[in-house]
Amino acid sequence: MQVPSPLTELRDERLRARAVRLYLKRDDLISPDLPGNKWRKLKYNLIAARERGHDTLLTFGGAYSNHIRATAAAGARFGFATIGVIRGEEHRPLNGSLSQAVSHGMRLTYMDRATYRRKTDPDVLDTLAAEFGDFYLLPEGGTNTLALRGCMELPAEIAPDFDVLCCACGTGGTLAGLAAGLRPGQRALGFSALKGGEFLANDVRRLQIEAFGAETGNWSIDFGSHFGGYAKRTPELDTFVADFRERHDVALDWVYVAKMLHGVFTRVDAGEFPEGSAVVAVVTG
Ligand SMILES: *Cc1c(COP(=O)(O)O)cnc(C)c1O
Repeated sequence: MQVPSPLTELRDERLRARAVRLYLKRDDLISPDLPGNKWRKLKYNLIAARERGHDTLLTFGGAYSNHIRATAAAGARFGFATIGVIRGEEHRPLNGSLSQAVSHGMRLTYMDRATYRRKTDPDVLDTLAAEFGDFYLLPEGGTNTLALRGCMELPAEIAPDFDVLCCACGTGGTLAGLAAGLRPGQRALGFSALKGGEFLANDVRRLQIEAFGAETGNWSIDFGSHFGGYAKRTPELDTFVADFRERHDVALDWVYVAKMLHGVFTRVDAGEFPEGSAVVAVVTG
């Protein structure tokens, strides 16, 4: 695990034109199997699972979930059996994401969409326990109080002074944790990867209250950078990714990170960061 992850400053004329400094916090380099926010979110959950004597992790996700893949890798690395409960029907052959999970020893089981919607109801969990025995439950996307504690550690790894910390949002757990690790005067800015993600603001507040007893009030969410919705792409986004690779030799994850960085550059171009600002964008995967 490469923690602290590297921090690099981008040289880019769009930034120079607005006198904004932009750093990338390269959490994608933490580990090839367990990158980014998924590692940060798992860390204290793995410690808790071990302390409570569990030897099996069970979690939920869609067929392309980064969290499913990361949980499988974490199980293999730290000695837990893993069970992935996948939304919907089984499709053969398995996609790359699920085959990777299986290659790390994860057992997959499939849940119809109606049951999946109530997957944490006691009767559904009882059925899973009857089938798989005792397990430590990681929620979908890995977001819970302990996940926030892991993400909260990131800001202290950033040596230069900065004003705004940006990240992509799926469940909002990463944003909720990062914001709690900021110093007074700093702000966090999330970019929703979901269309209609306005519910995220409530979720982030609720998560912070659960984890820290209060909301931190130092964050906001941009809802205008989802490019049509979760895992949707457009030619404009593809061009941004290709151009970014050309300029900076970084291949961006397009589901989350590219949409966030596109949103950051849109704000830079619009002069929304005051001259002299320093912005850090977290490359979460
Ligand atoms: C899962 C994921 C996110 C979303 O994180 P949340 O804590 O669910 O908001 C962002 N970026 C990447 C690369 C991810 O894999």
